[in-house]
This record gives sequence, structure tokens and C-alpha cells, in this order.
Amino acid sequence: MKNRRTAVRLCGAVLGLGGLWLAMTQQPPVQDLTVERIADDLHVIVGSGGNVAVLTTDDGAILVDDKFERNVPAILEKVKSLTSKPIRYVLNTHHHGDHSGGNQLLMKDAEIVLHKNARANMVKGSQPGQPRLSFADEFAVNFGGKEVRARHFGAGHTNGDAAVYFPAHKVVHTGDLFVRGTPFIDYGNGGNSEAWLKTIDGILTLDFDTVIPGHGAISKRADLIKWRADFQTVRTRVKEMVQAGKSKDDVARTLKLDDLPGWSLSGLLVKSLPGLYDEVSKR
Ligand SMILES: [Zn+2]
Repeated sequence: MKNRRTAVRLCGAVLGLGGLWLAMTQQPPVQDLTVERIADDLHVIVGSGGNVAVLTTDDGAILVDDKFERNVPAILEKVKSLTSKPIRYVLNTHHHGDHSGGNQLLMKDAEIVLHKNARANMVKGSQPGQPRLSFADEFAVNFGGKEVRARHFGAGHTNGDAAVYFPAHKVVHTGDLFVRGTPFIDYGNGGNSEAWLKTIDGILTLDFDTVIPGHGAISKRADLIKWRADFQTVRTRVKEMVQAGKSKDDVARTLKLDDLPGWSLSGLLVKSLPGLYDEVSKR
């Protein structure tokens, strides 16, 4: 990074051309996307934004999520390295912009599908790239001799999350219903921790070995089970603190998380904690 900046500065100094200097320094930053292989026809594009699954078929590619809009050129480049066929379908796991931000550019050529609540959240937030198609419980794409199923098991991260299942590979893409680290409970868009745990139980009824989380490393079924247990532990701890009369600030300051790998108070939980406190205070 430092070397590159020095090189650019040198170049600008030597050439002494203001316009060129401007053009060079205004180039978009290098996008650090990499491709990880699960099977010959199933890969994951990791880096900036949510994890993107790419299933290739003889007739075209099916994607799960499409990161931010600015990532689309790099996504297209990575897909091109996997197949000469176009992207025909994109399944959004939910409406957040780091998972659906590429919709606007991709929907010109591809059909994009998501849960109806996720679509409503996009409409509510005046988000660009609102898909033409949405579903209530389950949606399947049978294309190029392969099948992908998106299924809504209930609320969790938001009220419109879908887990996307690749039955032939025994792989599930959970979107942000599973992340390697602290979860964000988006209460403003129907997120709920109690429902979330039930939703994970629903996902676990699927027959899979490999999990593509919304963010973080490709994982195993056991990792999702462990994360669910940790989530339950955190929820129980907050509930017990509420019952012991602790204030929101007390909980934010003293909630014990150091025994749970990947969980941190400073992370998104700070954003989730006020809502979680209110949720477990009810009834
Ligand atoms: Zn999200």
C-alpha cells in the first residue's frame, strides 16, 4: 500500500501533470476479492461485503448475494474466471446493502429473487435494485440441470432472511443468520433473537455439511451448532441480568463474553444490545 502510494507520487512528480495526477489518485481502490472453492461448480467470492456463492451450470451462473454496488465489476471478473456463461439468477439472503447492493447493476441481465419481507424492507428504505420477484416461504431455481432452494425459516437477523440450500452439495448459505463473530440483530427491520434461535433450528433440519456464513470463513455444520449455543448463552445472560435489575448500561458494561470466541461487546453487539435488552425485558 505504502509502496504503491510512493510510486504514484513519484510518477506524478516526474510527469508534473496535474490532470494525470488527479486521474491516478482518484482511481477506485483495489478490490480485494478472492475465490474459494467448495466444489468444481460451487465457489465463494469473499472479501468486501457479504460472501457471494457462485453455482455454475452449462446454461449460466446462479449467485447468492451480490455485495455492494461498487464490488460488481470485481464480482463479474471473478465469475468470468469460473465460467464463460452469464449470471442468470441472484438469490438475496436479505435486504442489507452489503448483500443486495449489486442488484441494480445485475438485474438488467439476471433475475433476482428474495423474501417478500426483505423486499418490503428495501421499499421502506428506498433502496435501489428492488427485485421483481419475491416469495413467502420457499423458492426453488431449477436451471442448467441443477437445483437451488431459498427458504425462509422465520425472523432472525431481520424479518426477511432466507437460507439458500444447495442439496446436491449439502451446502447452505445462511446470509447473516450465521456470521463468524458477533451477530447484528436488526430490530428496526424485524430482527429478533428468540425467533433467530428457532430459525437456526429450522436451518439445521436441512441435510448439509458445509455452511457459507454471511461474513467470515466457510464453516462446518458443527460451527453453526456451536455458534447457536453461544448465542443462546448470551441471550440467557442478558435475560438473567435484566431479571436481576441491571440497567442497559450495566449490561453493556459488564456482560461476560470473553469465554465465547469471536464475540465482542465492542462489535455489533453494542448496536444489538439495546434492542436485545428490550426484547428479553418483555412479558
Ligand atoms: Zn445483514
